[in-house]
Amino acid sequence: MRITEIRQLSVNLRGKLRNAVVDFSQHTVSLVALVSDVYRRGQPIIGIAFNSIGRFAQPGIIQDRLIPRILGAKTETLLSDDHRRFSPQAIARTAMLNEKPGGHGDRSSAVAAIELAAWDLNAKLAGEPAYAHIARTLNKPLPTGGTPVYAAGGYYYPAKSKTTLLDELLNYRDLGYNSFKIKIGGAPLHSDLQRVEMALRATQHPNTLAVDANGRFTREQANQYGSALQQFPLKWYEEPCDPLDYALLAEITRGYTGPIATGENLFSAIDTHNLTQFGGLRGQQDILQMDPGLAYGLTEYLQMLKVAEQAGFSPSQCIPHGGHLINLHIVTALGLGGCEAYPGVFQPFGGYAPQCRLEDGRIFPSDAVGFGLEQKPELKDFINQLTEV
Ligand code: MG
Repeated sequence: MRITEIRQLSVNLRGKLRNAVVDFSQHTVSLVALVSDVYRRGQPIIGIAFNSIGRFAQPGIIQDRLIPRILGAKTETLLSDDHRRFSPQAIARTAMLNEKPGGHGDRSSAVAAIELAAWDLNAKLAGEPAYAHIARTLNKPLPTGGTPVYAAGGYYYPAKSKTTLLDELLNYRDLGYNSFKIKIGGAPLHSDLQRVEMALRATQHPNTLAVDANGRFTREQANQYGSALQQFPLKWYEEPCDPLDYALLAEITRGYTGPIATGENLFSAIDTHNLTQFGGLRGQQDILQMDPGLAYGLTEYLQMLKVAEQAGFSPSQCIPHGGHLINLHIVTALGLGGCEAYPGVFQPFGGYAPQCRLEDGRIFPSDAVGFGLEQKPELKDFINQLTEV
């Protein structure tokens, strides 16, 4: 059993969308296929995945560095001990040959796309959904109850716009979401506070509205927002400052009694160690949002979870960034605290397949094999393009 070919397709995110820091319409994502020599009904079994949302496609790193290393490795070194599956760990390790530690740059998401495609391939070889396959591989009970999901968005609307933030959140509520996240930091503090008040009118329970500053605030702004936000029953205050400024985060955390969320821009277990040691976060309260698709894949993510647990964080406090099918399967398999959804945006990758059930704020993966990306209509053409022989 071997991998015969690895393909990469750079896909643009659709639509105009930006937060306080970046314009997502300029973003691309690497869609990757691992083609195996195992055939079923005349077709090779192909593992498919992508490197999450919010960064860029990595065709250069994947084609110049990672693919030659993996295809050049001895076949048996990429297999599990019983030789019945591929080893995502060994594939990621091989992809990283001759790379120095630290300074992840863009290789962490390039490796992630391939490592996650290996999980998809294994689940397809086993003929089961990725969540069931991951749970079984890690000796965890088969999850059945779905996973909590919150609708993220909460955009800025021009003053004369007919649609308001409240309309947007009520629309999410109609879709079946009962927990939300909105942007802050794109307007002066006083108008952001009015937006929070407006958004709270869409919530039915306390602690179901989060706010996200996207890492943009200075010390002064972050602390001002922290003091002002404290009056509201918020689910969390996300990325108040630069994601790598642990000393400032610790200062902000000392002045803010509610939950703080961060981690989507950390890419390794060592990063997680530094965050939990020096960022002032409080075990049993704050939220960790590392995203496997940006951080070398599920293998490294499991190490990150271990580090978090040793620092006093429970799996329920881990809610990965990136509202898409791959993270839905991972969150479900590992019994984490939940996942996000950006209804209708970040296409073709964002959101879930129509076969995934959304009920009372919980989302259930479908029973498609692998991550079920083939069930997502927006991805269909790209997957066809990538996998046609
Ligand atoms: Mg965020």
